[in-house]
Amino acid sequence: MQIEINTSAAPAEGVAVVSLTMGSELPASLVRTDGIAVSELQVNIGAGPWEVERVVRQAVRAAVSFKLPAIQLNSADFIMLDRTLFSERSLGKMMARGALMGAYVFDDYLTNGQAPMRINLIGDDEAFLAGVQEGTVIGQCVNEARTLSNTPANIATPAELARCAHKMAASEANITVRVLEDQGLKREDLNLIRAVGRGARGTHGPRLIVIEYSGKPDNDIQDVIIGKGVCYDTGGNSMKSSDNMPGMHRDKSGGVTVLKTIQALSQLKARVNVVGLIPAVENSVDGDSYRPDDIIETAAGISVEVTNTDAEGRLILADALWYAKRYCPDTVIDIATLTGAAHIALGDAYSGVFSTNKTLLRDLITAGEAGFDPLWELPLGPRYAHYLRSTQADIANACMSGKSGGASSAAWFLHRFAEKAGFAENYAHLDIAPRMVQVFPDEHLAPGSMGAGVSLFVEYFLSKQTP
Ligand SMILES: [Zn+2]
Repeated sequence: MQIEINTSAAPAEGVAVVSLTMGSELPASLVRTDGIAVSELQVNIGAGPWEVERVVRQAVRAAVSFKLPAIQLNSADFIMLDRTLFSERSLGKMMARGALMGAYVFDDYLTNGQAPMRINLIGDDEAFLAGVQEGTVIGQCVNEARTLSNTPANIATPAELARCAHKMAASEANITVRVLEDQGLKREDLNLIRAVGRGARGTHGPRLIVIEYSGKPDNDIQDVIIGKGVCYDTGGNSMKSSDNMPGMHRDKSGGVTVLKTIQALSQLKARVNVVGLIPAVENSVDGDSYRPDDIIETAAGISVEVTNTDAEGRLILADALWYAKRYCPDTVIDIATLTGAAHIALGDAYSGVFSTNKTLLRDLITAGEAGFDPLWELPLGPRYAHYLRSTQADIANACMSGKSGGASSAAWFLHRFAEKAGFAENYAHLDIAPRMVQVFPDEHLAPGSMGAGVSLFVEYFLSKQTP
């Protein structure tokens, strides 16, 4: 659907503009300009700055459900919140980001989709308007990430992700893209990506998409973000049950997040250098597919025994971690819908973050708070090594006995490759499986992908800017 953000109060003739009126008395209501109350909102104002974004999403979603063509939100309506918690700029940002994310629905393939929506955000402070601009970029990139993640595997193939990256490089500033396919992957010995993707061919075959954003060319500091791009995960020969397979086109969500984060950073002219790596594959079943018991020799020099072909995400990420070494990165962060275990541990409330670097952990958690895209630390350490013991190779890709500790043993697998590449102390892993799709009703988002990670990454890199 088309969503348009404006900061002028003048609505087009005949459009019902809805105003969210909230005073000290709750609940709030949506009232049309003709005075008719459309909806009572059960707004439960808490203490955190997220309340602005939550209320805005709720109001906009209500307007969408009433098929209203426009909604107007006034920054002055938020006076009853503790305004010391956020600046005018962050108020503008939260309102724009919240409005865009709240209005979104995935309707690209519906003949009668959602009518276009116009959102007026009113405030006269310059900082507020700058915040609206920033929030508009972030909200649009989050929504584009949701669309790509929601797009099924017959359309959003590895080749299609590569095409999206090339298209972005052509239209946005300071971005270059190259894509490694058959020969390129072979030349670099990226045997884990090749093994996982071997059951799929042509446009569905494996790729490594390399995106370089140079927003601060006079600076050597360069960070790498890596996103799991499994365009469909059948589980391979360790096949998922028919109950567990639907929705697995969203197993590329981490990769899509990397793509749209870099788009947002370019549009915001962020003064940072970021390399995005997206190993894009389909984990399919075919006579040529990799199998349990296979032993794969890797470019990193760590041999891997495959004990479960459904633990494919960590394999493709491990190759990308090794590839990241050539950039001598300052920090490396991967993002992946990696384990059901993380979802069981955290519910839908948080994504998991793993790192041995306390500063990096703190900065990422802070960015998650600012981005309304929250993280919670889960353990990472050598006590999980025994889950991955193999007698025939240096490491097994999955635990053979039971499922306990699955999120942390996966993180430890990745850590081994980060250690081999020499950046284990500046490495973090984000498991966004808990927040792959919207379930948490309080977040007021349409069903489907949440675009987890885009907003927090953008906040993280904005906070890393140097003059
Ligand atoms: Zn899998």
